[in-house]
Amino acid sequence: MTPAELISTLPPLRETIQAHGLLAKKSLGQNFLMNPSVTDHIARSAGNLSEGTVIEVGPGPGALTRSILGAGAARLVALEKDERCVAALAELSAKFPDNFSVQSQDALTFDYASLGASPIRIIANLPYNVATPLLIGWLKLISTKTVPIAGMTLMFQKEVADRITAAPGSKKFGRLGIISQWLCDTWKVCDLPPEAFTPAPKVHSSVVGFKPLDKPRFEARMEDLEALTAAAFGQRRKMLRQSLKSLEVPIAELLESAGINGELRGEALTIDDFGRLAQAVERLRKQS
Ligand code: SAM
Repeated sequence: MTPAELISTLPPLRETIQAHGLLAKKSLGQNFLMNPSVTDHIARSAGNLSEGTVIEVGPGPGALTRSILGAGAARLVALEKDERCVAALAELSAKFPDNFSVQSQDALTFDYASLGASPIRIIANLPYNVATPLLIGWLKLISTKTVPIAGMTLMFQKEVADRITAAPGSKKFGRLGIISQWLCDTWKVCDLPPEAFTPAPKVHSSVVGFKPLDKPRFEARMEDLEALTAAAFGQRRKMLRQSLKSLEVPIAELLESAGINGELRGEALTIDDFGRLAQAVERLRKQS
């Protein structure tokens, strides 16, 4: 049987949810996808899954998990914090004993390097309460090349997705967009209304694709970029010569060495401008 045929022998998702009493828990950010045409679209947009390892964070009752396996994933490791969902996925593991496993894990503390040297793709309908720390953690792994992440396809609340993909000059441009686009090409895969989930969240959602670049757009340390963007966008309305003072490096030298007009605000700079600023921060810190 093909993977897709195997999936078609499973009971409908609603039965799995009922049989395991999977009442959604708000504390775990549980808003489940139920429509296979939506989850198939997300899985297909994640690229070639027939090589390397796919990690799914928070499989829940398994709608997206079914689609990832149906799309022919060579190896899928699902990380789930809710024991009830881990138990609910046993039937799926039994159908795919060679290429699917679900681990009772917190994705925030999981050791991604333990999965070996093969390329990793992360696919997830993320729990929104920890989506940003999860993303920052994976971007850190990309920046240090600790784990070979080949791509990420992630559902966020739309407002966060808009910030990740925002272009310079936009009001939504800030820390998340700069750090994401420093390391990856990013794009919107699709937008979804609240009714696409059970229970329906209060917000709209969007799937974002990330493809790590062969080399980051410029040399910098992620901690310098994080400090710089926190300073520049923490007080969005202030001019840079004021807002960057909190970095505790000589402000005039910083701006001059990076070739930046201190009367501008953070949102007026390009990603490369932030690159020159991060390099100047590092230089000035070393000198002091
Ligand atoms: N993938 C399923 C779907 O699309 O229907 C469920 C997505 S739901 C938005 C988020 C899932 O992440 C839930 O199953 C929840 O239990 C799980 N989760 C929440 N926090 C987690 C964490 N720190 N580590 C791993 N899983 C987590």
